Amino acid sequence: MTTKKTFGFTSTILHSDRQKSIEHGSLHKPVHHSVAFGYSDVRDLAAVFQGKKSGYRYGRQGNPTVSALEEKVTRMEDGYSTLCFATGMAAIGALVQGLLRSGDHVISSSFLFGNTNSLWQTVEVQGMPVSFVDATDVANVERAITPATRLVFVETIANPRTQIADLQRIGELCAKHGILYVVDNTMTSPYLFRPKAVGASFVINALTKYIGGHGNALGGSLTDTGLFDWNRYPNIAETYKRFETKQWGMAQLRAKALRDFGASLGPEAAHHLAVGAETIALRVERQSASALALASMLAKDARVAAVYYPGLTQHPQHAIASQLFKAYGGLFSFELKAGLDCFDYINHLQLAIPSSNLGDTRTLIIPVAHTIYHEMGAERRASMGIAESLIRVSTGIEETEDLLQDFAQALDAVSPAKK
Ligand SMILES: *Cc1c(COP(=O)(O)O)cnc(C)c1O
Repeated sequence: MTTKKTFGFTSTILHSDRQKSIEHGSLHKPVHHSVAFGYSDVRDLAAVFQGKKSGYRYGRQGNPTVSALEEKVTRMEDGYSTLCFATGMAAIGALVQGLLRSGDHVISSSFLFGNTNSLWQTVEVQGMPVSFVDATDVANVERAITPATRLVFVETIANPRTQIADLQRIGELCAKHGILYVVDNTMTSPYLFRPKAVGASFVINALTKYIGGHGNALGGSLTDTGLFDWNRYPNIAETYKRFETKQWGMAQLRAKALRDFGASLGPEAAHHLAVGAETIALRVERQSASALALASMLAKDARVAAVYYPGLTQHPQHAIASQLFKAYGGLFSFELKAGLDCFDYINHLQLAIPSSNLGDTRTLIIPVAHTIYHEMGAERRASMGIAESLIRVSTGIEETEDLLQDFAQALDAVSPAKK
């Protein structure tokens, strides 16, 4: 039998666990519930503690089911190494806990997931200033750099207004200055885009969203792409420098963030996320096709004031999206014309469910300013380009024709002219 060296995205993920032998030939990596791991020779336990042997010791620091998922994510991102966490936010928080020190400076895109925005506010009051910049232009990032800048953080497609960071050029800028470049890939997922291709040092994925894909388990991941030279990073403690340079960042993160803060992913959730990940390509293809069809339909409708979707040619970063992403993703947002009530519209939908999640198999919809961006206040919303009537949609895997019909009938239902 000839062995094929490289396989496609889905073949690779499906067979990722079998790269190592699985207990009893099980096709799924089993769910290991044990918190502790025992050794017949205590010297082996000591060697595991000292990092001289690989092995498990206590569930907070590692678990075989979680490790299998970490390897899967590493393959998806073509990375060097991955750590999983209980949630996507825990993965982002790990960067702060594991790699930043008081006085360090962070540059973040101002177009951000709401909770990440809130996290940066906390980081600021803890003594690490954060500069928010319009990251759709690398010049704004460059202007914000100081000698204390340790990390630049961007999202691929920002939620909910779909701005796309100047991904390639920010990567070049960070490489030049030896600054960590962190890309939150949640909205594109590794199926549509691998941030390593634009020089990312770390890739964040909220596994809760497209990777898990079914809204039945929370999880987050942090992937070291292997591109960053840890010799250039001042905050690595001596104890982690006993490993190969490539491992320094992850060794410190595993101890200082995962072990000490303890937001570990549970084995049951890891199993759900791993099973979900098998179908990511199929789901995201359908979700992207439906989002494009819906956004195009709404953009042509006189009752709709604005539609934000990278797949539309009028989107300011349509060219970058076309160049970098395999498709434009399952998330778009829109505003109805004045006089049409966004709550009425949403209540008339039969398939789309009012809910704050995204990346589910079901189509989910939410009025942004009144819910997920309520806490930040009108002023900050305005600075992020979020209108009070903005509606966000995350397409599911329902048939595209059903969604088109549903979104169209709800528009008719709220239009006074039709009554
Ligand atoms: C949801 C989300 C997160 C956080 O993930 P959780 O699993 O909900 O903590 C981070 N970034 C983006 C872009 C997200 O959409």
